[in-house]
Formats: sequence, C-alpha cells, structure tokens
Amino acid sequence: MALTGLEIFKLLPKTNCKKCGMPTCLAFAMQLAQKRAKLEDCPDVSEEAKQQLAAAAAPPMRLVEFGRPDNQVQTGAETVMFRHEEKFYNPTVLAVTVSDKLTGQDLKERIESINSLQFERIGVRICVNAIAVMNDSGSADAFATAAAAVKDTSELAIILVTESPDAMAAAVAKTADSSPLIGRATPDTAQAMAKIAKENNCPLLAVAESVEALSELTEKIKAEGVEDIVLSLDGLSLRDQLYNLSKIRALALKKTFRPLGYPTMSFVADGDADQQAAYATSLICKHSSIVVVNAVEPSAFLAMLTARMNIFSDPQKPIQVEPKVYPIGEPNVNAPLMFTTNFSLTYYTVESDVEASRVPSYILVVDTEGTSVLTAYSGDKLNEKTVADAMAKHNVEGLVKHRKLIIPGYVAVMSGKLEEATGWEVMVGPRECAMLPKYLHEVWKKD
Ligand code: SF4
Repeated sequence: MALTGLEIFKLLPKTNCKKCGMPTCLAFAMQLAQKRAKLEDCPDVSEEAKQQLAAAAAPPMRLVEFGRPDNQVQTGAETVMFRHEEKFYNPTVLAVTVSDKLTGQDLKERIESINSLQFERIGVRICVNAIAVMNDSGSADAFATAAAAVKDTSELAIILVTESPDAMAAAVAKTADSSPLIGRATPDTAQAMAKIAKENNCPLLAVAESVEALSELTEKIKAEGVEDIVLSLDGLSLRDQLYNLSKIRALALKKTFRPLGYPTMSFVADGDADQQAAYATSLICKHSSIVVVNAVEPSAFLAMLTARMNIFSDPQKPIQVEPKVYPIGEPNVNAPLMFTTNFSLTYYTVESDVEASRVPSYILVVDTEGTSVLTAYSGDKLNEKTVADAMAKHNVEGLVKHRKLIIPGYVAVMSGKLEEATGWEVMVGPRECAMLPKYLHEVWKKD
C-alpha cells in the first residue's frame, strides 16, 4: 500500500532546508505522496529512507515476463481488484498443454494445432500465448525432447511443468534462450528448482496446497535469489480455486502482502472442450493470470479468447476503428454510401451485415470517440456537422455520383438538418443493421 504523506514525512530529514523547492519537509512529503514530486529532489534523504520508500513504492503485484524476446508474455502488475475501479493491465495468458508422452508426428501435429489457435475479432488478432510442456512420462529425456520440439516448432512462450529437478535441468538446457516459465517448485523441491531458475534467469512457478503454504514457499524461493515467481494452488475444486485466487489478489492488492504479490496460474484438465472453456472463462474472470487447458478445439478457444478480450479492454477507452471510408466488396460510383460510428463493435456489426447483403457498398465511419450511434447522438458527438465534416474530409463526393446518404434508422431525426448541411439526399436506413441486406435489396435498389 502506498505510504501516506505523514508516513513519508517521518522518513525525511525534517530540517526544512527548502533545497527541494518546498517550504517544509511536510509539504514535500505531501507532494511525494501525491506523486507530484520525486524523492531525488531532496538531496539530504538517507540511504535507509530511500530503500524504505522504494520498497513501499513497488507495485503490489510483480510483473513477470517470459517467452522469447520477440514474442514475450507479460503477466501480473495488476493494481485493482475489479475492472471498473480502473482497468486490468495484462490479459490472462492462455496456454495449452503438450504431453511429453507424444513423439514424432503426433507431437508435431499437437504443437501445430496449438499454433493455429488464432482469430480476428472486431479487427483485433486474438490468440493463444503459450505452450505448457507436461512431464507426464516421468522421463527427463522425453521431457527435454518435447521441450526442444516446442521451441523449434512454435513461436509461443514455453512453460515447463515437472516435479523433477533433474527433468527440469534437462529441459531448460534445451530451451533457456527462450526464457521459459518453469515449475513446479513445491516446499520439497523449492531449493533445487530455484537454483535452476536463478542460473537460467527464468521465472519460477511455486505450487502449494493452501494460501498460507504458498506465502511461506515464496519467501523460501526469494531467499534463494529468485524474484520472478508465479503462484499456483494444487488439487482444488473450481469453487475453491476461485475463492482462494480472490483471497490471494485481495491480500496482494488491498493489504500489500508481499509474499503473495505475484501473478497466479491455474490448470484446467478435466471435462470436454466446452467444460474446459467454461472453467477457464471463470478463472479468467476471477483472477487467474495464466490459465492452462488441455483442449485445442477452436470453438472452445474462441469463447475463452473473446471472454478475455472483453474483460481486459479498458472500460474508459472503447475499442475503435479508424474513421475513414471502408469499401465493402468492389463498389463503383453507383454503390450505396452509408455512415456509422467508429465504435468497433458497431462498425464490425454493420460491416458483416453489409457483406452479407452482397451489395458492394461504402461505409463512412464518423469519429465519435468510439461510441455507438445512439450514445454518440445523445452526447452530441454525432450530428449534422460531424457527419458533414467526415463526408468532406474523406471526399465522398469523389466516390459516388448519386449524392444519396443512408443514415442509421435510430438517428432519423437528423435527416432534415443533415440535408441542409450537406445538400445530399438523406435516406433513412433500418434501425437494426441486421435489416440492412433487406433494405439494400428492396429499398436502395428500387430507388
Ligand atoms: Fe526537507 Fe529535504 Fe526538502 Fe530540505 S530538501 S526541506 S530536508 S525535504
């Protein structure tokens, strides 16, 4: 938890020398607490006070990075319990297992099926982030071979999962330059696993059966010199996982309890692909930083990735598309021209309905700061002037010769003013864009 002004004041020299530009040490402390001043501005602050202030200023949840430098994964560094308080920073890392019992073509096909889990949604590419190599065979050689195959066949970040320090050493020897996340370090293997993590500069997965045992384990691992730690709870039902993950997050973020101030990881092994998707989505919501599943079915992944995208979008910044004219199909000078707003969800819904109509068209996207049609209209971000300006800026006069503009049915009320402002004939389209195909075929073409 951040220090208050008075707590900071106690650590300052209290000479009121004014070298920092403030009249008193107390005034400087208050500015520091509000992040309006820097500690370096006080030349007389002691080294001990500097260390205490730096420790207090460290984020409550550590940022952990792993994966090869050109495709690095970041997790942790969250600051709030709930999205509406500010925003979530690092989307849950989604990983899929690869068993080291697989060999040859089977192993290659499994890795390639994971690589292909990529989709585009409202203009954004969403994909799986990591492959978790599981030492199911119990053999160090098989584990190292599978880890090497993943490294050679995939760009994704690697997670190495074994109970055996010997197997881990063998696998890390093949993949260290890809900076894998390694584990499982239990109270029994913590020292040996921490040694491998420290020597190879890898983050370490700490696993225990309770929150209390985890907090003791992270202290033990830290004492071995490993700072980048990921937490995982063993053998719990989904209900208990959700309860304990919330507890860990609250202790880390609300109480600044440093032994639990790390990202978390969960494994979803049971059930069919749909059940795994449902479990994983629950864990994405509350509050797993990394979720590992066995399923590779694209339908399950699309659901998980969509849930993740929705939860980790910034509630204060709607996802937007670039304001401009988008041709759909191969429109010519007789093609219909319609406008919508630059809220991504609105644009892509309109776009898919226009595409479905198979009528080549132009969609003019008006900049409404990422708000939907009705929201923009109510907030006066969508009016005859903004539409006329967008038409001029994007030179729609040069695209079509009919001078007709189709407007969303919900803003039919602006027709008159828009005709005055542009000199174009305004045609009121349907309220719901799902009706656009019918409208384009039955009203536009007849017109
Ligand atoms: Fe106090 Fe340091 Fe500012 Fe001097 S420079 S007034 S000691 S905070």
